[in-house]
Amino acid sequence: MENCIFCRIVEKEIPATIVYEDDFVIAFRDLNPQAPEHILVIPRKHVPRIETLDPEDALLMGKVIVAAKRIAEGLGMKHGYRLVFNNGPDAGQEVEHVHLHLMGGRKFSWPAG
Ligand code: AMP
Repeated sequence: MENCIFCRIVEKEIPATIVYEDDFVIAFRDLNPQAPEHILVIPRKHVPRIETLDPEDALLMGKVIVAAKRIAEGLGMKHGYRLVFNNGPDAGQEVEHVHLHLMGGRKFSWPAG
């Protein structure tokens, strides 16, 4: 998708600190980290929001979550981590390409703000 910043990271048209990639998923450090470790895990395929996922994207999104698990293990997040999908304006989604926030290295409160 031409105007999608995350698609441009997938295409390596703009720089990002990539920490993981495979045929389906790419993960990179968030530019504005909210925790000592803050990674965005995204499908290479452009999907704007959770509600625009197709049923056949179920395996793809499973790969996103499993990639997050592997990254968390690699970064030594032994005491836990937070996984967040901001979806739509009420949730504060800024980038319309589905992304999983993986955050760790500190304690998180609940409920989220
Ligand atoms: P969200 O509010 O869930 O849509 O989160 C979008 C996230 O993308 C924010 O945490 C931004 O800091 C992050 N972000 C935006 N542009 C970039 C970029 N070029 N590289 C890395 N992270 C980015």
